[in-house]
Amino acid sequence: MNSVVSKHSRQAFDVVVVGAGFAGLYQLHRLRKLGFSVCVLEAGAELGGVWYWNCYPGARVDSHVPLYEFSIEELWRDWSWSERFPCWKELRAYFRYVDERLDLSRDVRFDTRVTAARFDDAAGEWVVETEGSGRLRARFLVPCTGFAARPYTPPLEGLETFAGAQLHTAQWPQGGLDLAGRRIAVIGTGASAVQVVQEAAPVCEALTVFQRTPNLALAMQQRRLDPETQAARKAGYPAIYEQRRHNFGGYDYRPARRSALEVSADERRAVFEDRWAEGGFAFWGNTFSDILRDEAANRTAYDFWRDKVRARIKDPKVAAKLAPDDPPHPFGAKRPSLEQTYYEAFNQENVALVDVNETPIERITQSGVKTKTGEYPVDLLVLATGFDAVTGGLTQIDIRAPTGTSLAEHWADGVRTHLGLASAGFPNLLFMYGPQSPAGFCNGPTAAELQGDVIVACLAWLRERGLTRIEALPEAETAWNAHVEELAAATLFPKANSWYMGANIPGKPRQLLNYPGGLPLYLKRCAECAEAGYAGFRLS
Ligand SMILES: Cc1cc2nc3c(=O)[nH]c(=O)nc-3n(C[C@H](O)[C@H](O)[C@H](O)COP(=O)(O)OP(=O)(O)OC[C@H]3O[C@@H](n4cnc5c(N)ncnc54)[C@H](O)[C@@H]3O)c2cc1C
Repeated sequence: MNSVVSKHSRQAFDVVVVGAGFAGLYQLHRLRKLGFSVCVLEAGAELGGVWYWNCYPGARVDSHVPLYEFSIEELWRDWSWSERFPCWKELRAYFRYVDERLDLSRDVRFDTRVTAARFDDAAGEWVVETEGSGRLRARFLVPCTGFAARPYTPPLEGLETFAGAQLHTAQWPQGGLDLAGRRIAVIGTGASAVQVVQEAAPVCEALTVFQRTPNLALAMQQRRLDPETQAARKAGYPAIYEQRRHNFGGYDYRPARRSALEVSADERRAVFEDRWAEGGFAFWGNTFSDILRDEAANRTAYDFWRDKVRARIKDPKVAAKLAPDDPPHPFGAKRPSLEQTYYEAFNQENVALVDVNETPIERITQSGVKTKTGEYPVDLLVLATGFDAVTGGLTQIDIRAPTGTSLAEHWADGVRTHLGLASAGFPNLLFMYGPQSPAGFCNGPTAAELQGDVIVACLAWLRERGLTRIEALPEAETAWNAHVEELAAATLFPKANSWYMGANIPGKPRQLLNYPGGLPLYLKRCAECAEAGYAGFRLS
């Protein structure tokens, strides 16, 4: 199938991959080695995926070292991080290093946005339309568009009249923007908001944070790392990377097997304290087995979290808004963020919190944000308002089945896939890190590699048998949907209005968008499907 042709002249490939983040680059690396001709199309100007776009002040990962990197020894052997939770700049440097080592970008077309793709039934190929690289053809199309490719800005009245700078966090200028001395409003309290607030509070003139739902943020416990200590730990990396495939979220935690309700209050507290001190997601994903399944167990975690946070906030009224007596939703049913100084920021004279449930934003004016009770003068408006997550990056591309139906139409009443890999009626379209796969519940690089391997193995298996077409069957799609729904119903995720549920986007069908059975079960299901000759797919 493969032949060597300059990337500038060639327009037909075995595989077109969309997106040059962890997932797309892993596909390129693996498929190219197997002799497939591959072209990666990337809207951004550099490698890095979300770390290209999310370059706002404070942007950093919430997966700890060494999990947020490839598990390829040739890469980790010679790379070290300066912090336990690296920032976007260091991630960019990491991607440049990966590029140097694996020689990836010769097969990536940057500044190329995929706008449409239609399956040419007669030729058995996808015809991919782009802004930047014209029209390409590919036997297989593998969108690796991530879950955050479509930023969301709510319809705030008067937004267009604002005379200052207004920026969505995911559209931050590449050259940066100084926060010092500014009067800043941050709309939203998700992960990006938390990170911007921590950077802005110490340097800005005034900061007003508009909160709809408090972020049940966890202590990051950031640490500086030195190369010597990391080098000494590297002998243990293979075991850490192996452990990922046995963990719900693709982390290196050992499974928590006990119920929070079967231990004494003292014992429970000791476990909570231990995970809190460990930092990162340990308190979310590694305390007790039933925190995300049982409301009473969940409440014990919430109460611990609330008391920890309240102790850091001076004004009791502000404390009650940031960490209410009763949970706004079950703890952890919305992805918690990690914070370092978020709560202390609200002790500063120059920082104010506005609860938009009590005091809704009436409109954005030329010079600020007007609520029922007054106007906040602002010269920088930060829209930390999230994404049309998981599906938005896919449905904003006009992907058409041979029947002419678009993917957006196919999913109008909710996403439907077989194994989170493919949708019925859309041949040779394999989703990576997409809906109904572990994606949003899974550490990004883990998913890029382990779900990525599932796709690579599938393409190699087809080629070995001289097969050129794979298409999910409608009944397999229905069965996977039922499986996802059944698993979801046994969790507390549906009880929060979160992007996990599509609830942050008006009109989006309410459903759990990612696979809630955990990575190990997901991989098992994929393996069973493959062993059965790709059960649930029509092959030819
Ligand atoms: C601010 C932020 C912080 C995060 N922190 C973590 C974390 O700590 N841990 C974790 O596990 N996950 C985190 N995530 C999730 C993150 O998406 C994954 O970790 C990881 O980046 C997924 O890699 P990916 O390659 O699948 O997708 P992405 O990194 O999202 O890359 C997708 C790429 O596709 C490109 N693309 C999309 N649509 C098109 C198109 N139509 N045409 C051309 N190119 C297109 C985009 O430009 C982008 O470069 C974070 C996400 C965000 C937004």
